[in-house]
Amino acid sequence: MSGARFFDAVVVGAGITGLCTALHLARRGRSVALLEQQAEPDNATANSGAGVRFFDPDAQISEWVRESHDFYQSLGAAWLPAPALYCLQGDTDDSLETARLCGFRSQEFLGLKALYPAIEWAPSALAIEDSDAGFRDPLQVTQLLLRKCHKLRVYVGFAEPVTELQIDLRHKLRTPSGLYSTDQLLFACGYWSPEVMQRLGLPAHVRNRTVTIHYLDKAPTVPFLVEHLTGFHMRSTASGGLLFGLPQLDFDIPAQQLPDRAETQGAIAYQHLRQYLPVLPAETAPLRTVRSADAWPLLAPAPTLPNNIHHLAFGQGSAFKYAPAATLAYLDQHLR
Ligand SMILES: Cc1cc2nc3c(=O)[nH]c(=O)nc-3n(C[C@H](O)[C@H](O)[C@H](O)COP(=O)(O)OP(=O)(O)OC[C@H]3O[C@@H](n4cnc5c(N)ncnc54)[C@H](O)[C@@H]3O)c2cc1C
Repeated sequence: MSGARFFDAVVVGAGITGLCTALHLARRGRSVALLEQQAEPDNATANSGAGVRFFDPDAQISEWVRESHDFYQSLGAAWLPAPALYCLQGDTDDSLETARLCGFRSQEFLGLKALYPAIEWAPSALAIEDSDAGFRDPLQVTQLLLRKCHKLRVYVGFAEPVTELQIDLRHKLRTPSGLYSTDQLLFACGYWSPEVMQRLGLPAHVRNRTVTIHYLDKAPTVPFLVEHLTGFHMRSTASGGLLFGLPQLDFDIPAQQLPDRAETQGAIAYQHLRQYLPVLPAETAPLRTVRSADAWPLLAPAPTLPNNIHHLAFGQGSAFKYAPAATLAYLDQHLR
């Protein structure tokens, strides 16, 4: 591959992870190319609920969420408040302690009943209140980040899938419209990561998990509620509907080959929903089902990559809310 354009860093994938990474690197004075296979933003980021909850049982993530919130505010991204509840079950001591240390209040049955009388709370209910939570418009955030990248002269190539890679001290990449060479290569390919890594001859680094989200047209207004143990979540939408779902444990299945579990998965999630809202009127059905996917770190030790090839997939279902800070922390650690 000769005649390649050189950049200090090439970032592959223009979702929230790639956009933040490219911007942070450009702010450090690096020349950066951001290469995206789609002709326009159409990825997990663009389709995300872009919900921001500040409490997480992992105190590091809570901190990243706060830092990322400030970052999004500094971009001027619009903000729609939507208080959230994080429902605890089973052994709750560690989560309660983390919540207390981070300044969150918890509510038991009576407090929850007073706050949200439309919900049928179990007498043992216990939830951490996340009253500052809310949403952003992921497409607006994408546009704002692209604008910032352009200002810092990041080369942004849409419709440029990376199809070939030559690993060397200075890596070379091919897309249908160009050749690039770089000292630092950062993959931020989201759900597609394992497939892309395999195609480019690199060991896969993450696993993908599918999540099925269901939608009801009309439903009572509820807080954004997430259950700690099951991962069940529900929240009202701006149009008066309700989104809810339970994670599925289908790992590593390409999106186009996912088994159609809409009906069974929908029924299980609907049953779960009725624990909170037993009197949903029948005419709120039918459910609409949307499939999505999360990247999760592999449990086995990560394969060794050359130390100037990086694979950024933060996973665990909620990267939008902490991607700006998580990418920055990664760069601080690995690419000073
Ligand atoms: C329906 C849904 C709801 C969600 N709700 C929330 C929420 O409320 N809060 C929250 O915090 N998170 C939420 N998430 C999760 C969050 O949106 C994702 O974790 C995050 O957007 C992932 O960003 P990413 O940049 O890693 O991946 P992506 O956004 O998927 O971006 C990866 C990019 O890489 C590109 N790419 C892949 N291969 C190549 C190649 N060979 N060459 C060039 N480009 C390539 C892809 O085209 C894509 O644009 C939700 C996700 C979904 C799908």
